[in-house]
Amino acid sequence: MKIEHIGIAVKSLGISDELFAKLLGKEPYKHESVEREGVTTSFFQVGDSKIELLEASKEESPIAKFIEKKGEGIHHIAFGVENIYAEIERLKENGFIFISEEPKQGADNKLVVFLHPKSTNGVLVELCQEI
Ligand code: ZN
Repeated sequence: MKIEHIGIAVKSLGISDELFAKLLGKEPYKHESVEREGVTTSFFQVGDSKIELLEASKEESPIAKFIEKKGEGIHHIAFGVENIYAEIERLKENGFIFISEEPKQGADNKLVVFLHPKSTNGVLVELCQEI
């Protein structure tokens, strides 16, 4: 596993794109909407890892709910894996709970699945595999 990216929930992608461009000294390399998840994302490359900014694209979006409850900030940590199905089995055997056990198409050409924060010390963990 490696840290593939860190997801940060933001209110405005416009404002936060500028902020992170200033912080990191570079522009985001892509913007992408995942309509099913109700998010618009932008990605910054940072060494071998990335920062994923997440803005809600509709009211029922999990990102809108997250910001309402906790405010802007770190939303999830994503670990890149070689075989997401094998990792899901391994982690289930070790007692971890998944929000959904079926990997879905996520942003940035990835298959993604999320572990429930109640089984990971309150941290929302994403597993992702390059498609
Ligand atoms: Zn992510």
